[in-house]
Amino acid sequence: MSTRSINVDDRVSDYLIRASREPEVLKYLRDETAAMPMARMQISPEQGKFLRLLVELVPARRIIEVGVFTGYSSLAMALALPEDGQLVACDVNEEWTSIASRYWAEAGVAEKIDLHLAPALKTLDALIAQGGSGSFDLAFIDADKENYGNYYERSLALLRAGGLIVVDNALWDGRVADDEVSDQETVAIRALNERASSDPRVTSSLVPVGDGVLLARKR
Ligand code: CA
Repeated sequence: MSTRSINVDDRVSDYLIRASREPEVLKYLRDETAAMPMARMQISPEQGKFLRLLVELVPARRIIEVGVFTGYSSLAMALALPEDGQLVACDVNEEWTSIASRYWAEAGVAEKIDLHLAPALKTLDALIAQGGSGSFDLAFIDADKENYGNYYERSLALLRAGGLIVVDNALWDGRVADDEVSDQETVAIRALNERASSDPRVTSSLVPVGDGVLLARKR
């Protein structure tokens, strides 16, 4: 027993994956993505399960996703959305999102997902300009780390009070804790973690699931 977060070695990690009982369609998507060079950009199965729970807990009907990749997280969240739920998915990569679209269709959730192939800041700013502020329930941020602070601010504007921001890679393979590391991505993630922890607009928590997830609930 320890007062620290558990060290997740290979055995515990395998257990987490088994215990998450990943739906088959998500497993097929994971397998197809695993063969790609950027496979490590995919969230882990236990994170997928965590996201599905968060969607139900909030509860979320309208979601923003910044960073789709091959669609694992959007599919996980869309499966947890109610029938009339909507997920606005932002990404710039046609090749990756074409894989995502195929799996959304296969899982029967394509109608819930509105893909915007454009820089996410442009899409988020357009949503705000169109009067979308306060109309979303959950934002999942998992894209270019240098823009994390910008995505956080746009998401805060777009969320209703009680809405939840979920930020992936908040621990960045431990690099945020290493003072020797000062590349732009690490610095941006570190800055957002610090900002959220003292931001009076939110209640936040840094959770060591997967590569670390920052949760910030809008007050
Ligand atoms: Ca990620």
